[in-house]
Amino acid sequence: MARTTSDRVGVIGAGLGGMAAACCLAARGYKVVLFERNTWLGGKAAVLNEQGFRFDMGPTILTVPSVLRRIFEEADKTLEDELELIRLDPQWRCFFEDGSQLDLSENTDRMCAILRNFAHNEALEEHYRQFMAVSERLHSISDKYFFWKPIGSIWDTFSLKDAFHGSLLRDILSMRIGSTVSGMVRKLLREDRVSQMAEHFTQYVGSSPMQSPAILCGIAHMQTGEGVWYPRGGTRAVAIALSELLGTLGVEVHINTGARRIICSDGRATGIETESGRIIDVAAVVSNADAVRTYRELIRGDTALRFDKRRHYESACSGVVLYLGIDRAYDHLLHHNFIFSRDPMEEFHSIYQQGVPAPDPSCYVCAPAQTEAAVAPKGGDAMYVLVHTPHLRQGHDWRELYPKYRKVVLAKLERTGRMKDIEQRIQFESVLTPTDIHKRYRVLDGAIYGLASHGRLTGAFKPANRSPHLKGLYLAGGAAHPGPGMPMVLMSGWIAADSLDRDGVAPKKGR
Ligand SMILES: Cc1cc2nc3c(=O)[nH]c(=O)nc-3n(C[C@H](O)[C@H](O)[C@H](O)COP(=O)(O)OP(=O)(O)OC[C@H]3O[C@@H](n4cnc5c(N)ncnc54)[C@H](O)[C@@H]3O)c2cc1C
Repeated sequence: MARTTSDRVGVIGAGLGGMAAACCLAARGYKVVLFERNTWLGGKAAVLNEQGFRFDMGPTILTVPSVLRRIFEEADKTLEDELELIRLDPQWRCFFEDGSQLDLSENTDRMCAILRNFAHNEALEEHYRQFMAVSERLHSISDKYFFWKPIGSIWDTFSLKDAFHGSLLRDILSMRIGSTVSGMVRKLLREDRVSQMAEHFTQYVGSSPMQSPAILCGIAHMQTGEGVWYPRGGTRAVAIALSELLGTLGVEVHINTGARRIICSDGRATGIETESGRIIDVAAVVSNADAVRTYRELIRGDTALRFDKRRHYESACSGVVLYLGIDRAYDHLLHHNFIFSRDPMEEFHSIYQQGVPAPDPSCYVCAPAQTEAAVAPKGGDAMYVLVHTPHLRQGHDWRELYPKYRKVVLAKLERTGRMKDIEQRIQFESVLTPTDIHKRYRVLDGAIYGLASHGRLTGAFKPANRSPHLKGLYLAGGAAHPGPGMPMVLMSGWIAADSLDRDGVAPKKGR
């Protein structure tokens, strides 16, 4: 491939995906310059420090740490030297509307023992084992065909020459193409509350289990297999560790510097124009900005038209986050808790089809003082409550919607989460609405998790990391392959960097 005269690779956006890409490229010998429009590095992995409370503002559940390990290994570093990781098991505590409570354990035998006491239904243990076996199989298929590769469609996934190979056909059959997560879960787990818990894994990708392909049932095994981890210092510690690595590797970092345009010439990306009008020549670009907005706003023209024509992508859900500094921690909570809706059909229909906040939503509650007391003044907790909402649609005005919805959320915590005196315990309160998320992180329609995984055939596919529309453009982040969530965006950064490296589009230092 022809090279431009610049010896630098430009990275737009310092979310976890952008930082992972920049670290991998620098570790492999590239000269990297990174532009971030905000004043901090880490994007959604931000922190809020107020009145002695410390809140992770975005991600709180860290799974599949092997991906993070691989990023550090690129730079000859050991993950455990950079971060103290604490394993959490039980992984979640689930609260249901009928007053029952169920802990999710990473260990299938332990989980079966928990289910024995929970449902008094012998068949359920066997059904759970079957579900986990299917989940493991689907996870291994994802590992084999989807992960660590720059994929954008089914055509990139399976090569024609292997099409009639027995093992490939077996794998394709195991994928249950045409089935949804809900279809699969409810066929295998015939207990409503346990099904509700298992379906909820698709909330990690901001999508409805009724519209997402069955392959996503593999998320359950991804989480139980490698565990749920808490980095001491919060998930913010991951962003800090990566920003330190950027420094060690000599990446040139410009915060408070938005990119206005990716400059293209002769059908390839050759430069970045910043919002202040400065032009930086580059040999290639990795964009960690939202994939759709990268094409439509930073590139525009025929390239954007080609991208839009290829496929219509739908935004994943948005959410409201309440940051509640409370003076007394709740003993009946674990670190991670799900307070489930009365009816998942009603909930997902509202969020994903009607486009309105669910009347009785599921609330995720993080109570980090259970693991690290330093997050709050003595005896208190920096409670974080996340409720998924529709992505922003015309007419959504969260200045109007929020005050009413806050009452719905707090009532749900009081009733189903058994936090009767929550209002009295609140010492500090702040909120992030879909509008805030949209503006703060410059995402599509306020989406938390990039693009929805909806569609039985295409739902698992996101825009490819190596752009098929513009040479020298690579995508990293939640709206690119393999999708959202900390491990996936870190992997997307690695894939973008690896693809760029394989393409040889930029010279390495000293050559
Ligand atoms: C409330 C919430 C809860 C979540 N919970 C979890 C969880 O528990 N576990 C989990 O694994 N994941 C969770 N996620 C998802 C996870 O946080 C994201 O998938 C991931 O952090 C996104 O990383 P990213 O690389 O896509 O970049 P982002 O974090 O989206 O960052 C992109 C960066 O690009 C910058 N940018 C955009 N445009 C430009 C431009 N033109 N010029 C310069 N810079 C630009 C932005 O300012 C931003 O800093 C959660 C997310 C949110 C918001």
